[in-house]
Amino acid sequence: MFDDDQDMTSIRDGIKSLCEIFPDKYWREKDRSRSYPEEFVKALSDHGYLGCLIPEEYGGSGQKLRAAAVILEEIHRSGGNGAACHAQMYIMGTLLRHGSEEQKKKYLPGIAEGSLRLQAFGVTEPGSGTDTLSLKTTARKNGDKFIINGQKVWTSRAEHSDLMLLLARTEDREKVKKRTEGLSVFIVDMRTALDNGLTVRPIRTMLNHATTEVFFDELEVPQENLVGEQGNGFRYIMDGMNAERILIASECIGDSRWFTAKSTGYANDRVVFDRPIGKNQGIQFPIAQAYAATEAAALMTEKAAILYEDGKRSGAEANMAKLLASEASWKAAEACMQTHGGFGFAEEYDVERKYRETRLYQIAPISTNLILSYIAEHVLGLPRSY
Ligand SMILES: Cc1cc2nc3c(=O)[nH]c(=O)nc-3n(C[C@H](O)[C@H](O)[C@H](O)COP(=O)(O)OP(=O)(O)OC[C@H]3O[C@@H](n4cnc5c(N)ncnc54)[C@H](O)[C@@H]3O)c2cc1C
Repeated sequence: MFDDDQDMTSIRDGIKSLCEIFPDKYWREKDRSRSYPEEFVKALSDHGYLGCLIPEEYGGSGQKLRAAAVILEEIHRSGGNGAACHAQMYIMGTLLRHGSEEQKKKYLPGIAEGSLRLQAFGVTEPGSGTDTLSLKTTARKNGDKFIINGQKVWTSRAEHSDLMLLLARTEDREKVKKRTEGLSVFIVDMRTALDNGLTVRPIRTMLNHATTEVFFDELEVPQENLVGEQGNGFRYIMDGMNAERILIASECIGDSRWFTAKSTGYANDRVVFDRPIGKNQGIQFPIAQAYAATEAAALMTEKAAILYEDGKRSGAEANMAKLLASEASWKAAEACMQTHGGFGFAEEYDVERKYRETRLYQIAPISTNLILSYIAEHVLGLPRSY
């Protein structure tokens, strides 16, 4: 459970070498100009890393989830950021599990080779937030088409994706028996939809994340783009959440290890009062605390990944992994910032960039409170609070 097997070691070594071509300076410049790391994403795609979870019969390399976890961890550990393309790895899971054979043959080979980008995921709406079941974007059936109207927010990478996986309401909320019914999943071909009912507007944020808000105005989507059965979309989306939580946890662990390496390096080198600042326990202890928290989170992440790969229930572990890893990376970020003193604020040290980047994970793709409430209610059997 604790050591990489041979396959994982070679994936880890391969991705490490690739990341060396994209040093801190590359990420710093992308961050400064808020531009998309096109070259990095292309390199990952050309090496087949983004198609690693797609089965071989559809052109991918059919790896287990831990392969994707190792790839994302190493990207973050190198000082980079996988958010520009991590969704290309896992959004297709909904299609793979619930799409028709025809849909899989049509889309998966292109996604595996990188000629087709499926990395926009339209779930969150401004009015409903975390309460996904209150979403208001509608898909109205009209002959052999669905007509989409509404709005999504925080639809990341929409400007850098050919397809979007969209969750929309196909039945009024008042008419369904269960709150979880009445939502459906669609593949929206954004290449034809743009300016034909779909508008994408970038949102500038505190980190370089290529996120957007999208508007649907009488957008026509062919019936054949409905994934699975009409009305079951919420369940399909939830099926993919555990993999996403495990992969985001891996990114946090990578961040945390980057911060800790940076902290220890600086604490050993920086001399104040004629001695390295790392001699002071006030500097050592927060770094050590973050290290311990990270190692614990890494164990939980690995446990969740193994359960997931074995087809066992992994909801509790996947949620706890994401919770613990996002808190550990924030602890490591805080320790790193404090260790660097004023220099932590200087762009050229990259600490402030990674600090901004890793803060996201306590909020997206799901916020800490919602994970705690999942654990309280679904694991510990406490009464529902909402
Ligand atoms: C940079 C970025 C990228 C994103 N990318 C995507 C994407 O690609 N696709 C997509 O669909 N979404 C995306 N999101 C949205 C993200 O998943 C949501 O921001 C997140 O789930 C939180 O939802 P919210 O922002 O609407 O917060 P809200 O739901 O408004 O909640 C605000 C705060 O209240 C707390 N809260 C709410 N209800 C409760 C409760 N019952 N008990 C306790 N606390 C509660 C929350 O935990 C949170 O801290 C992204 C967000 C960001 C910031």
